Amino acid sequence: MPFAATVLTLYPDMFPGPLGHSLSGRALEKEIWSLETVQIRDFAADKHRSVDDTPAGGGAGMVLRPDILAKAIDHASPVSDNRPRLLMSPRGRPLDQAYVRRLSEGPGAVIVCGRFEGVDERVIEARNLIEVSIGDYVLSGGELGAMVLLDAVVRILPGVMGNRESGESESFETGLLEHPQYTRPQDFEGKAIPEILTSGDHGRIAAWRKARAEEITRARRPDLYRSYREEEE
Ligand code: SAH
Repeated sequence: MPFAATVLTLYPDMFPGPLGHSLSGRALEKEIWSLETVQIRDFAADKHRSVDDTPAGGGAGMVLRPDILAKAIDHASPVSDNRPRLLMSPRGRPLDQAYVRRLSEGPGAVIVCGRFEGVDERVIEARNLIEVSIGDYVLSGGELGAMVLLDAVVRILPGVMGNRESGESESFETGLLEHPQYTRPQDFEGKAIPEILTSGDHGRIAAWRKARAEEITRARRPDLYRSYREEEE
C-alpha cells in the first residue's frame, strides 16, 4: 500500500507544488505515495462560504470555525481511517527525524493546515488532532509546514532514494550531524580533498567520517551531542 497523504487546506492549488518535483515528484508518479487535497471551504454552509470568525474574548485576526473543519475532517478521514491526524501548529511537537521515520512506517497521514490566527481549540480535542510544529517561528499558514513534513517522510519511503541505504548515515539518523562531503575536482581554489578520502581504505574513511561528524555536532549542536553521548554510554 502506498503512503497516503490527505491535506486539508484553504489553498489546494499550492499542492503538489515542490512535492511534484525531483525525488518526491518521481515517487508520486511511481505511486509510492499518493496525495489528495481537500478544500476546507467546500464544507462551509453559508452563501459566502466563510470558514472563519472573530476570536472569542476579542483580539486581532480570525479563527477557523470548528464545525466546518470537523465536517471536512470527517469527510477526509472517517472513523475507520487509521492514519494519524495532524494539525500543523507552532504549538505542536517539534518535527524531528525520529517522528518523520515513525510516520513513514505507517499508512499515511491526514494533515490539517491552519490559517489566520489558528483553529478553534475544541476541534483539536474532538478530532484528536496531533499538533506538529516545523520550528520555532510563525508561518502564515500550515501548507509550507505540511510540505516540509511530507518531503521528509517521502524521501525515506522504500524505493524513493533508490540505490542507497535509505539515508541511514545522514544527519540526525545516527544522532549526529553529517560529516563533510567532497567531490571532484581534486583541487578547488587551491584546496584539496582530504587525503584519507581518496586512500581507498574504507575502515579509515569510516573512522574519519565518524570523528568529523562528532566534532561538527559537538561544536554546532551541543544539545544533540549530549544526547548522543548519553546513548553511547
Ligand atoms: N496565532 C497562532 C499562529 C497562527 S499562524 C499562534 O500564535 O500560535 C497560522 C497557521 O500557520 C497555523 O494555524 C499553523 O497551521 C501554521 N503554522 C504557523 N507556524 C507554524 C509552525 N512553526 N509549524 C507548523 N505550522 C505552523
